[in-house]
Amino acid sequence: MTALAGRTIVVTGAASGIGAAVASAVEAAGGTPIGLDQQPSARVRSLDVREQAQWAAFAAQLDGRPVHGLVTCAGITWRARLGDVEPEAFWNTQAVNVLGPLLAIRALAPLMPAGASIVTIGSLAALQGHYPVAYTTSKWAVRGLSHAAALELAGRGIRVNAVHPGFIDTAMTATAPQTFRDASLAQTPLGRAGAPEEVASVVLFLLGDGASFVTGAEIPVDGGASSHGGAKAVSDALRASYVPPTPVSAA
Ligand code: NAD
Repeated sequence: MTALAGRTIVVTGAASGIGAAVASAVEAAGGTPIGLDQQPSARVRSLDVREQAQWAAFAAQLDGRPVHGLVTCAGITWRARLGDVEPEAFWNTQAVNVLGPLLAIRALAPLMPAGASIVTIGSLAALQGHYPVAYTTSKWAVRGLSHAAALELAGRGIRVNAVHPGFIDTAMTATAPQTFRDASLAQTPLGRAGAPEEVASVVLFLLGDGASFVTGAEIPVDGGASSHGGAKAVSDALRASYVPPTPVSAA
């Protein structure tokens, strides 16, 4: 597959999970991923997405090389509830999940030609009142950032879209209690966790020319979890206790 041949795509959070799957998918599509993460490796450069100076240094290192795509996968969760969350943890979650993508877009948009594509990674939590309030507010903010950036950059032919993963098996969800996993999957009509590759394939579509008229969109990749608005529990309960109606006699 060569859908991204000749294109340089910057991927944050590329050391793990969804970011690593996106970087691999970009490579498989003939593109050149530049992976960034605070956990560097031979294939991933060191960068803390919260640090504006590091973004400036990275952009300068590119030395005018065009950037055709950006995927902001770096993120953290913080599962404190409303009454427990401390300001420091709250702001750090915003710094990684919201300020990070903002700084990335600001640093790299000037290097993007017309036709470039930015994909932010939001969350199912951005579509609901999910209990971990620092994470949820940060992901709702990612939606706002994506829409504002889509409007701001459309005049230069740069598209910005958000992808909202549901429960995906990665290092992040591996730290969640089993109850969290079970309750999340019970709300997922497809009845299973997603794989990082299933998010990456949708990101790849948004990066490519097949999505050339798509901007300011939000695409859930969540096995249907956001589509029923809580009605799955009602449907499941009724199905379990279902008694067929007595047929009405034709007489
Ligand atoms: P992950 O923990 O596997 O990967 C996240 C990566 O981000 C890690 O490699 C980590 O080192 C990096 N990172 C964290 N803070 C950073 C910083 N300050 N600077 C640079 N890199 C940093 O998690 P994942 O599940 O692959 O998550 C990727 C994105 O998808 C996140 O934004 C997450 O909120 C979102 N998401 C995940 C799920 C899920 O179920 N896994 C669901 C919805 C949304």
